Amino acid sequence: MTPFVALYLAQDGIANGAIYALLAIAIVLVFSVTRVIFIPLGEFVAFGALTYLGLQEGNGGATAGLVGLLAMACLAVEAVAGLRRGRPVPALRAGLRQAALPLGLALGSVVLPTAGFPLAVNAVLAVALVAALGPLLYRLVYQPLAEASVLTLLIVSVALHLVLVGGALALFGPGGVRLAPLLDLRVPILDVPVTGQTVMTLATTVLLIGALSWASRNTLYGKAMRAAAINPVGARLMGISAPLAGRLCFLIAGIIGALSGVIAASSTTILYDTGFLLGLKGFVGAILGGLASFPLAALGAVLVGLLESYASFFASAYKEVIVFGLVVPILLARTLRQGRLNEDDHEAAPVVVLDDSPEALRRQAWTQRALTAAFVAGLAAAPFVLSDYSLAILDYVGLAAIVALGLVLLTGIAGLTSFAQAAYVGLGAYITGYLSSAYGLSPWLTLPAVLVASGVLALAAGLLTVRLSGHYLPLATLALGLVAYSLFGTLEVTGGQSGMANVPGLTFFGHPLQGPRPFYAVIWVAVLGGMLALRNLLDSRPGRAIRALRSGLVMAESVGVDTRLMKIASFVVACLLAGFSGWLYAHFQRFLNPSPFSITQGINYLFMAVIGGAGSLFGAVTGAAIVVMGNQWLQSVLPRLLGAQGDFEVIVFGLAAILMLQWLPNGIWPAVAALLRLRPPGAGPPALGTPALTARDKPGLGETVLAVRGIHKAFGALMANRDISLDVRAGEILALIGPNGAGKSTLFDIVSGITPPTSGTVAFRGRTGLSLRALSLGGMGRTFQHVRILPGMSVLDNVALGAHARGRSGLVRAALRLDRGEEARIIAEAQRQLDRVGLGHLAMRSAGSLSLGQQRLLEIARALASDPCLLLLDEPAAGLRHLEKQALADLLVQLRSEGMGILLVEHDMDFLMGIADRVLVIQFGVKLAEGDPSSIQRNPAVIEAYLGAAA
Ligand code: ADP
Ligand code: MG
Repeated sequence: MTPFVALYLAQDGIANGAIYALLAIAIVLVFSVTRVIFIPLGEFVAFGALTYLGLQEGNGGATAGLVGLLAMACLAVEAVAGLRRGRPVPALRAGLRQAALPLGLALGSVVLPTAGFPLAVNAVLAVALVAALGPLLYRLVYQPLAEASVLTLLIVSVALHLVLVGGALALFGPGGVRLAPLLDLRVPILDVPVTGQTVMTLATTVLLIGALSWASRNTLYGKAMRAAAINPVGARLMGISAPLAGRLCFLIAGIIGALSGVIAASSTTILYDTGFLLGLKGFVGAILGGLASFPLAALGAVLVGLLESYASFFASAYKEVIVFGLVVPILLARTLRQGRLNEDDHEAAPVVVLDDSPEALRRQAWTQRALTAAFVAGLAAAPFVLSDYSLAILDYVGLAAIVALGLVLLTGIAGLTSFAQAAYVGLGAYITGYLSSAYGLSPWLTLPAVLVASGVLALAAGLLTVRLSGHYLPLATLALGLVAYSLFGTLEVTGGQSGMANVPGLTFFGHPLQGPRPFYAVIWVAVLGGMLALRNLLDSRPGRAIRALRSGLVMAESVGVDTRLMKIASFVVACLLAGFSGWLYAHFQRFLNPSPFSITQGINYLFMAVIGGAGSLFGAVTGAAIVVMGNQWLQSVLPRLLGAQGDFEVIVFGLAAILMLQWLPNGIWPAVAALLRLRPPGAGPPALGTPALTARDKPGLGETVLAVRGIHKAFGALMANRDISLDVRAGEILALIGPNGAGKSTLFDIVSGITPPTSGTVAFRGRTGLSLRALSLGGMGRTFQHVRILPGMSVLDNVALGAHARGRSGLVRAALRLDRGEEARIIAEAQRQLDRVGLGHLAMRSAGSLSLGQQRLLEIARALASDPCLLLLDEPAAGLRHLEKQALADLLVQLRSEGMGILLVEHDMDFLMGIADRVLVIQFGVKLAEGDPSSIQRNPAVIEAYLGAAA
């Protein structure tokens, strides 16, 4: 490469990178204000370019029509909402305010003779018209979902992307545009011609960054948007409207997207679907910049442009692979730098309040069995009544359901989102396709190879990605999916775009299994087997641990769950299922090409899990049936209905998905389950006479279990703990008191290994530097000031989770139900601890339906189930009624007499005085006094600082 070529590539990279930078800024803006990952931004680019061309040809009707339609829809939605609230007039006025300008623009661009306008005027008009879509889409699509999780918002974004791509094809047709540059200028810099468009894009980017950074600091709207991003409820209380902030940032994003389109159209050919990849590259840039800062995002995007430019010189076929492949290590580096356990914002699971009388339990079990029987009977009857064609569709449903089942575990239950499942299906399909066609191996021999390969690659990807939290994980899997698809289409072994023909069919003991009918049995037996195994898994020790991942990692680790292992395990299970589905697919279809393994298909699998109900196994099948059959049906019905060919099914499908998620954000199956009063999977009541779990060796009475020395903890300038030392001995209750903000919870978090101290040591049973999980395994149990339970699970299952570290059974034993002996002992132990805290009669309730006081007792039972020798209780009596407090005091005294060491934070002095052996008072992070309760009560400094203030 000569210096000239290097410079030329650099200029090319910067020119493209500048466009990505604009998009990256918009993505960061939208994400920081609304938590929406704005995938449809790419479509604004395409709309911008295509509308601009339309206006030049005197034909702005397509976009104008869409804007007009959405404006009217907006008006209607506001009016309906107003009528519901009984105040139609102000609502109508609000609707008109939102719709008037877009309607005016739409009308103007149709009526005015735009063909005769100067280019710049049309450019401005095009940008305005397309940008008007932003706030309208926010109002219609995202505002109703303001409370939804980032995942739901992401899925909705993907659905909206599909609708807009389909819409662009329908409105503008498949042809591309390449326009004359707005600014026809070429400046040679070091002999390399730099175009006016590059200069303009860069200037726009810099100006925008400046303007946005300035506005977010200095204007009321900017501050409002930041406030809404940080704390929507607080912002609302201060009179700052989250919807307004949302509309505004969508408007800005719309302007940026459309402007990028107008600018980009003079250097690249823009097609109706070009935007997606442009947007994704903007995205990669935004991620490089950490999704938080405008200048960093822009810089990241320029880097992407440069990388892409050089990559296309050296290995042009692998350009996309290189660019998207970069995402994973970068995300990983970001997460590793954050280091500690981070808590994601998980949405609360829906709590079904179920009757737990014995008759009701029997009825629930009966409904469950009847439903399962009906499902199996229906499946068994299908081959006798359905045509080959219908059976083939059911085969595809089954193949998809296998993948969706894995996603139920991975996404719905473990809370990890993967867009890459289609890639694992492809992996399985191509491996068996290659081995069986090139080497003539029997498919039954390639199956283990497929499973091993999927498992190993899942392990590798899992190891890389499970450290990623929140929105990073879905983005990393999106990148992985794109890379895999790109590879399927370029590698020689896969046959590239032309694919792989002549894959042998399956035979079963010499019988060829060919065509949809014999395959039907194979596929659906596999689906049923998968459902059974997963159902077993969910009702087991590892299953509880996986279900605990969703509620945040701290609680799970605090009962000894290895959260990273559990995440990787879910990843591997999901990918094994996907690889297996690919194996079946290859021998069913007998021809492979890359398109069934594209990112679109990966999105479809996620749709299935989310639409069906991401937490339930029947949901996976329901979702697979809806997506596969719905697409099939739409593809055959819509062209006839509309009399035209096009991607109409994508539009209808995307719209249906958006509406459904607005209406049932948890998917279909949870609603059905609530209607049928089905119990989520979990343990039944324990059997009598089950042998107890083995208990650990306890320290002798009076032995020091916890020795805390010289703890300092600084949060920035604030010293939350200053030189705190304390000891807790076996058979002793040490109470920690102090006014709010004194640093008690901070000390608890340091002692239990959640927060590292700035200096000082914590020795638990003589060992220092232990992690949260290691402490738990060693016998430290704790509860939380803000209770952390799994509200959708039964009380009994919640407590059984506490005994996690006392069992051994892994996933395979659980899936095959070989764990029943140990499981019975765990459940019996959970029931024993529940009886002990006085909640025994509520074991089968869902934990979320308990009162706050009862939830605190549940946490104590969970901690006790781990057989601890030291208990850390953070305000255990808060929210308890008088009698409950009395019972709790009795329990603590009883535990002490058994040799338990107890460290507790409590405000209720009367409660403490009766039970504490010693009291330690802290104030402003400093130890104020220590002694027996009555001397503390008489200590003048304590009375002054604490009792005086609190009383
Ligand atoms: P207590 O439990 O005694 O009410 P805390 O330990 O919760 O007090 O808090 C002690 C002080 O440390 C408070 O001023 C609180 O605002 C501050 N603090 C606690 N956690 C953090 C944190 N993660 N970052 C910054 N400041 C914190
Ligand atoms: Mg506290």
